[in-house]
Amino acid sequence: MRKPIIAGNWKMYKTFDEAVEFVEAVRDKIPSEEKVDAVICAPALYLPTLTDMCVETDLAIGAQNMHFEEEGAFTGEISPKMLESIHVDYVILGHSERREYFNETDEAVNKKVRAALSHGIVPIICCGETLEEREAGKTEEKVTHQVKAALAGFTSEEVQHMVIAYEPIWAIGTGKTATADDANAVCGHIRKVVEELYGSEASENIRIQYGGSVKPENIEELLSKEHIDGALVGGASLQAESYLKLLEAGANA
Ligand code: PGA
Repeated sequence: MRKPIIAGNWKMYKTFDEAVEFVEAVRDKIPSEEKVDAVICAPALYLPTLTDMCVETDLAIGAQNMHFEEEGAFTGEISPKMLESIHVDYVILGHSERREYFNETDEAVNKKVRAALSHGIVPIICCGETLEEREAGKTEEKVTHQVKAALAGFTSEEVQHMVIAYEPIWAIGTGKTATADDANAVCGHIRKVVEELYGSEASENIRIQYGGSVKPENIEELLSKEHIDGALVGGASLQAESYLKLLEAGANA
């Protein structure tokens, strides 16, 4: 049985005080880590404060991006070594917004996945198709390509600890969710790709989230599907009450 993982992606929202207030409000109300993995991926600036605040709680803190090098002359960047030094547990990689606005390539995502693993950080690797690609029947082709590129060169043992987030780009921040059956079909396809590359142990253990306008009203149905092991949530993760409802659904899935 795969444990559900619910990750909030705050993107470029919240002031420092708002971030602290949110974590204060939720950190003692998180369902047990045995039932669900609860993650908040916060702006980099707030990470050391939030990881400090979450010591000995069931809330894990993640980053939204990182560089793949350990250190170097890369003005403005943050390295995996830095994230490890402040006890960050997760990192979102290859989010469609980073691919679109910041030229993040499949090759960079692959290097970042490698770097995350070397520093004990769990990568949440994003993939997903545009509306045009979906309408042209190219969803599977697109996600297959992205998943193969991100996962190239790992061992089966490494792959089973990763998280993949299937996020159709047309569903992100639009209020349009893929139907639970459609989302499940693509997540099932991704699991098949992982099986072809790394065998059944990796494909049975890797967790695949759905993302794109997930909210308390639709999460239960999504999580009831065979291949959907959690959610990567933007908008609905910004309010404490709604985030806790999402976690509750995860714990009961
Ligand atoms: P959304 O964002 O839940 O606001 O659609 C999801 C994401 O971008 O990860």
